[in-house]
Amino acid sequence: MSAPTASLTFPEGHSLKNIDLSVGVFINNEWSAGEGGKTIEVRAPAYDKVIANVAEATENDVDRAVDAAEKAFETVWGEHTPGSERGRLLMKLADLFEEHAETLASIEALDNGKAFGIAKNFDVMAAAGCLRFYGGLAGKNDGKTIEVNESKFAFTRHEPIGVVGQIIPWNFPILMFAWKLGPALAAGCTIVMKVSEITPLSAFYACQLIAKVFPPGVVNVLTGYGNVVGAAISSHMRIMKVAFTGSTLVGRQIMKAAANSNLKPVTLELGGKSPNIVFEDADLDQAASWGAFGLFFNAGQCCCAGSRIFIQESIYDKFLEKLTNKIKSIKVGGPFEADAFQGPLTSKLQYDRVSAHIQAGKDEGATVHLGGGRHGTEGYFIEPTIFTDVEPSMKIAKEEIFGPVIVVQKFKDEKDLIAKANDTMYGLASAIFSRDISRAISVAKEIKAGTVWVNCYNTLENGVPFGGFKMSGIGRELSSEAILNYTAVKAVHINLNGPNPL
Ligand code: NAD
Repeated sequence: MSAPTASLTFPEGHSLKNIDLSVGVFINNEWSAGEGGKTIEVRAPAYDKVIANVAEATENDVDRAVDAAEKAFETVWGEHTPGSERGRLLMKLADLFEEHAETLASIEALDNGKAFGIAKNFDVMAAAGCLRFYGGLAGKNDGKTIEVNESKFAFTRHEPIGVVGQIIPWNFPILMFAWKLGPALAAGCTIVMKVSEITPLSAFYACQLIAKVFPPGVVNVLTGYGNVVGAAISSHMRIMKVAFTGSTLVGRQIMKAAANSNLKPVTLELGGKSPNIVFEDADLDQAASWGAFGLFFNAGQCCCAGSRIFIQESIYDKFLEKLTNKIKSIKVGGPFEADAFQGPLTSKLQYDRVSAHIQAGKDEGATVHLGGGRHGTEGYFIEPTIFTDVEPSMKIAKEEIFGPVIVVQKFKDEKDLIAKANDTMYGLASAIFSRDISRAISVAKEIKAGTVWVNCYNTLENGVPFGGFKMSGIGRELSSEAILNYTAVKAVHINLNGPNPL
């Protein structure tokens, strides 16, 4: 059976008319149909239309991908390719991402629903920047020499851990693809990646570029259902590490599968309920602008979304008005509509989940200050929504909504604020708006989160680690920290002229 292909058509007026691409199982730089021959429907969320039928991979496909990745690790990658060469190839892929930005972004916009301009100038460019950053770091994770005594020294080697499994979600498909690929390839690992069955298309296009750059078997990509393909990766005895981005629920299952198989190390990038804090001495226009951006970017489908806004009592009304006006100015629209900032939710399931959260907020007695309903009649759009009169015990204040819904609460002083901000099982991100840098730094120390932004939001940098405290995850992505996830430290002890023990 031959590998499936898809032919995507873009709306009238868009710079590209249509694109054909392979949507099978990508192993050894070749496409094939999934072992069972079944396919999964992929829908465009802005139009609720099927745009592709992609191969549904199986456990046996995962095995084939592991065989390919293992062979590549043992023959052409890992320690068989110098770090400088791995870096050069990563940079070449970064260049290709930029050359193909128009196509990658068009696919991403259609498949995920985000605005084409954002997909091109943010997602694809940030993905290319991430690959280039790790190109620069490849081969630089040196070990140490340790002088033990006159007759002995030791040295350490940071060796690539082997074949790694990576499982990514649907909110930033091409960017998460690059975040995972970069550090693993820089470290010298080979990859079996499961992309989301909801948004696999940009990664499949990227595989065409990968085949031009990397030897066969270095990167293998498939999609399928989480409880089959994801579970097969996390429990695989020959996959030496698994990295996951997605829900806390699935993160827990992956950790269990890893524990019950070969005890592979796990890194998890999970959910959040991040506090965005506005003190009375803040620049309120600046705080309103970042506050709206911090939640409504990507229709609120960001793990680090600033979904709980805490406003100091003395400026509550004034700031709420500014924030509301900013949010009202957001244009909701399809991915190819000019100036649209907030697109649809990426799947019908996510639309239903977010709608259920909004209903729960209403049922529990919170006030719908803005929005609260469906936007338009086609696709999975929800109006930008603000809830006020929110009690900390309410579902909308506690659970990750992952949609365009912001929850506003008041605080009295720093002590009150810190207790409220930290009253969550999550700890991914946070932000503080204040003109008093001493206050910002002291509050930053008290917030239990992996990222604290001061007077900005959602500004991630390749060189700065990103990850969660508490139930938001384990390990860090980006920066040199992420390379450590993909290496094992070996200590070599050298006896020079010490006495024999017996
Ligand atoms: P999910 O965690 O179910 O899916 C993420 C990825 O994990 C997908 O590739 C999926 O196929 C895979 N997966 C599912 N079950 C698996 C299993 N048993 N073993 C291994 N892999 C498995 O996320 P979702 O259902 O698409 O979204 C649910 C919620 O997760 C959202 O409402 C949101 O709160 C959160 N989420 C967070 C992020 C993030 O960036 N941290 C991304 C997407 C979703």
